[in-house]
Amino acid sequence: MIEQKTDQLHALEQRYMLNLFARPPMALVRGEGVKVWDDSGRMYLDFVGGIACSPLGHAHPVVVKAISEQAAKLIQVSNLYFNEPQLELAEWLAKHSSMQRAFFVNSGAEANETAIKLARKYGKQNRGKSTGEDGRYEIISMLGGFHGRTLATVAATGKPHYQKPFSPMPPGFINVAFNDIEAVKQATNERTVAIMLELIQGEAGINPVSQEYAKAIRAWCDENDLLLIIDEVQTGVGRTGTLWVYEQYGIQPDIMTLAKGLAGGVPIGATLATDKAAVFVPGEHGSTFGGNPLACATAIAVLNTIVEQNLPQQAMRLGGYLTRKIEALREKYPLIKEVRGKGLMIGVGLNGDHSAKVASEAMERGLLINPVNPSTLRMVPALILTEAEADQAVEILDQALAAVGTPEATPSNGH
Ligand SMILES: *Cc1c(COP(=O)(O)O)cnc(C)c1O
Repeated sequence: MIEQKTDQLHALEQRYMLNLFARPPMALVRGEGVKVWDDSGRMYLDFVGGIACSPLGHAHPVVVKAISEQAAKLIQVSNLYFNEPQLELAEWLAKHSSMQRAFFVNSGAEANETAIKLARKYGKQNRGKSTGEDGRYEIISMLGGFHGRTLATVAATGKPHYQKPFSPMPPGFINVAFNDIEAVKQATNERTVAIMLELIQGEAGINPVSQEYAKAIRAWCDENDLLLIIDEVQTGVGRTGTLWVYEQYGIQPDIMTLAKGLAGGVPIGATLATDKAAVFVPGEHGSTFGGNPLACATAIAVLNTIVEQNLPQQAMRLGGYLTRKIEALREKYPLIKEVRGKGLMIGVGLNGDHSAKVASEAMERGLLINPVNPSTLRMVPALILTEAEADQAVEILDQALAAVGTPEATPSNGH
């Protein structure tokens, strides 16, 4: 019966959907906290969390209440009129970050698209050494980085694989080596207006930049009047142990982007800017759904809960706990190379390209983890994770690794 149901899912996908994903044979239908259930009633510990989109887990009463109360009042009004949740959210973010102003959108890509437009506008106004008609417009971003799938954000995303099928890319983007300050300096020229990066690369496999690099990037931006755009779409909202990860690097962005977990799973994005970088004038930019009362009211409820319940500290503590337990597994399984990340943004680096196999064995045993690249497992569970749930997840990971065994051809092992 289960097989029949699965065949049905695949048949519907193949008949009616654009062909983009290779999905496992089940549909998720319900969730509660860190647990989700599939259409055959099987339970999983959810360490994917909608890809870091559920800081409070599934069906959290605060989120359910915020959505239902706001839905019963007002969902969408457009940006032609004030709505109170939007202004309240902007105020909340300004009071809890080093940024002063906000613009709201519906996704991470859109937040970054807004950041790119803001930087280009800044480059027209503050031409610096540029002799070109457009002033400064070039943005330096990092190889392996990820900023979204629109044409401009995919040009900023340093992954040729995502760019090639859709060439030509919009001009004005340079991708340089990650965590390499000399590469940034060499790429800087009279057209450069901004540097855009994630302080912990998410989609690339949970790779944090070094403290020295972050400081050097900030100093380089200051020396050359470049805007520093920090993409906190995945790192933001408490996941790494502080509300925003830049706090742990002792630097401040000029523009910062948010999305993913900001409204507990309801689509939202935000572009935050300092007064200096806030150069838009009326009519230059907009969004129909962006900043709608439903998403903003939910975001306020999520953020207040995160702060009131000290969830960033909880993420730091549980992240440390999980990391130590997974590192302990390394003695048993040479397949594990290292554990990377901060707080509950964890990458388990493997020796060799075996992440899909481990993730699939884990799923069969009731744990959802994401093989974010061929040799890395990503874990981004809800920040409300308990020690008992972490123990259970590590136990399943242990069994999954045992099932995979010691695969042949593990390159970094050498024999
Ligand atoms: C997911 C992600 C994005 C893109 O967000 P979408 O909502 O999918 O457009 C951008 N930047 C980072 C760092 C991300 O992790």
